[in-house]
Amino acid sequence: MRVPSEDGVLDRSTGRAYKGKGTTALRRSPFLRIMYGPVEELSLNEAVRISEARSRARRCGEDSSPRAAEGIDHERIRAAVRELLLAVGEDPEREGLRDTPDRVARMYAELFAGLRQDPRQLLKKTFTQKYDEMVLVKDIGFESICEHHLLPFIGKAHVAYLPNGKIVGLSKLARVVEVLARRPQVQERMTEQLADLMMEELDARGVGVILEATHTCMTIRGIRKPDSVCTTSAMRGTFQTHQSTRAELMALIYGPR
Ligand SMILES: [Zn+2]
Repeated sequence: MRVPSEDGVLDRSTGRAYKGKGTTALRRSPFLRIMYGPVEELSLNEAVRISEARSRARRCGEDSSPRAAEGIDHERIRAAVRELLLAVGEDPEREGLRDTPDRVARMYAELFAGLRQDPRQLLKKTFTQKYDEMVLVKDIGFESICEHHLLPFIGKAHVAYLPNGKIVGLSKLARVVEVLARRPQVQERMTEQLADLMMEELDARGVGVILEATHTCMTIRGIRKPDSVCTTSAMRGTFQTHQSTRAELMALIYGPR
């Protein structure tokens, strides 16, 4: 198969390179003409971009269980980090940086492990229990990565629900927080995802979720407000409709006011 290379077109099956910059090389290759359409308006860079977008789209289309079966592409992260280091004017070959691409690849595999886990599964095992008061797990620490800057936001989650004959292991709630945190995230969305998941899987009468976090994208860059804490909440069911339930939750989390 012929793919655009840096200075022309490379036929992967024969290893033969077709030299020439940009559109000239593309115009000479009937294969690329078919792949990318009329080549006259296409530069080599554009062709590469389209080819990458297509393979991305293919990968997305393939995974039926969203990103679950697919592992992290370490090689691709390594190449990207190396590229990043070069782009900021560093020397990726110097001693301190030599293993950095590999370390970062392993780090991302860990930080984004939640992409390959289904939090819903964690709430499938419930117990029948006649208990209809509020269940609250507070101060569940989490570390997530803000998807806008790829910088960590760190905080704690308070999750509560009003059971409807079904309860779930308390550690499972903490695990759900972790799975949702370990992916590129936005605090607002994470809060809602948590609430909706619990509401759906526990058939709860109500769910209340509060997240408090410090965003390093706000503390170490940009506006640089080191002490700012972002609080988000999602109330479902009785927590939404009953002010008294909400007040009870607040009192349990923050103490009586
Ligand atoms: Zn951010």
